[in-house]
Amino acid sequence: MHVTEKTYYDLPYERELTVRVVDIITDGKHKAVVLDKTIFYPEGGGQPGDMGWLGTYEIIDTQKKNDGTIEHVLSEGDVPEIGKEYRLMLNWSHRYDFMQQHTAQHLISGILYSSASIGTVSVHFGKDLFTIETDADEIEPTVLLAVEDKVNEIIRTHVPLQVKTATREEADTMGLRREVKVDNDVRLVSIGSYDTIACGGLHVRNSSEIIHVMCIGTERIRNHVRIQWLAGARTVDAMRTNHAIVKQLCTVFSSKDYELVPLAQSLQSQLTDARYHLRKAKVALAVESLKEKLACAENPIIAFECGDEEPEILRFYAEAAESFDDLALCIAQKRNDEQLSWVMVVKGPCAGSFDFSFVRQQLLPIIEGKGGGRPPLWQGAGTKSDQISLFLQRFIELFSREDLACTPLRKKSRIINYICSILLGLMHKEIWTGDKLFGKWCLLPCSFSLSMP
Ligand SMILES: [Zn+2]
Repeated sequence: MHVTEKTYYDLPYERELTVRVVDIITDGKHKAVVLDKTIFYPEGGGQPGDMGWLGTYEIIDTQKKNDGTIEHVLSEGDVPEIGKEYRLMLNWSHRYDFMQQHTAQHLISGILYSSASIGTVSVHFGKDLFTIETDADEIEPTVLLAVEDKVNEIIRTHVPLQVKTATREEADTMGLRREVKVDNDVRLVSIGSYDTIACGGLHVRNSSEIIHVMCIGTERIRNHVRIQWLAGARTVDAMRTNHAIVKQLCTVFSSKDYELVPLAQSLQSQLTDARYHLRKAKVALAVESLKEKLACAENPIIAFECGDEEPEILRFYAEAAESFDDLALCIAQKRNDEQLSWVMVVKGPCAGSFDFSFVRQQLLPIIEGKGGGRPPLWQGAGTKSDQISLFLQRFIELFSREDLACTPLRKKSRIINYICSILLGLMHKEIWTGDKLFGKWCLLPCSFSLSMP
């Protein structure tokens, strides 16, 4: 273990320091520098490790190992010399931002506890926001607003932070909102009388440096409410960004800001209607297209490649196929990723003894495809889009070759087949709701039954 002198607790605002390299640690691609002293805070307590530069070498993270060694992780490339002195420079905007977020979290957790009896279970500091997981299963919005207002009021009253060391016994008698987890001396951080807690992180000197806090949302996790917060310059950035967005939207829609939400709701409703009618129109077009193709075909068996770039076109054709009583249809479409999608609809007399497991064995390997479904619709994808023509041709052949598993359908037998399918359909029907089988009814000469699976 290398003992590095830590100056970040005594001098948390120090941005540069001359240091000596005492070791280089290499672990695969990962290279790290150990220094005689450091101003870089290693990741801990939810606060990320510091970043910066050692001379011209970039430090991308700081970590404390189990044996206490502080490693300054280098970006890829050359490494500094052992024994040589360098100027260690902190990425101050990164460090200060997290000092603001971290101190804001202390104050918010303190006020949640003292004013609403809400405890803090865990905290997480991200690059965009920080979160406080509470022990509450519900928090009224008015409570959150009151906490936010109270915290901002304390920020504006310039309350200095105090750090002192106490014994475990002393700390235990102070009624801290969070239990002390170490047995030896503890580092207590206080923000006036508003909050005191044992903490090994870095904080700003005065509450005013937090600038402002803003609650931006809540979510549920492990049956608790987790609150999302912004503090420091992040609140100013968010307000500027949001204001610019609202201003742009007002210009786009020639509206006042208070008109934007009802306007967006109205447009959303119109868009939903338009999409519904567009879909109906596209299905109607697909019906006409299928009618044209059937008029040119000797049998109601058609297969074609769809060149339309509309990704949903196969679904429109599948829906259009519902309008036909006697049809064997296969459509394939190349996708942007050079793969393909396919859909098959086989119904009425055409269905004969159509067996999809035969298709799975004989046709899908042509396109290295997969898929499934239930009568009368099957769909899937494939990777060999250059084999689409062969795939479609083989589908047609299924209905014309007697040596294949599908019963060949001759014109004469189609009429008998059609009558049989209507009778069978009347006698036995499955009722589907979405993808789930809801029930079956069976009409036999002497009985009627509705069975629930
Ligand atoms: Zn802290």
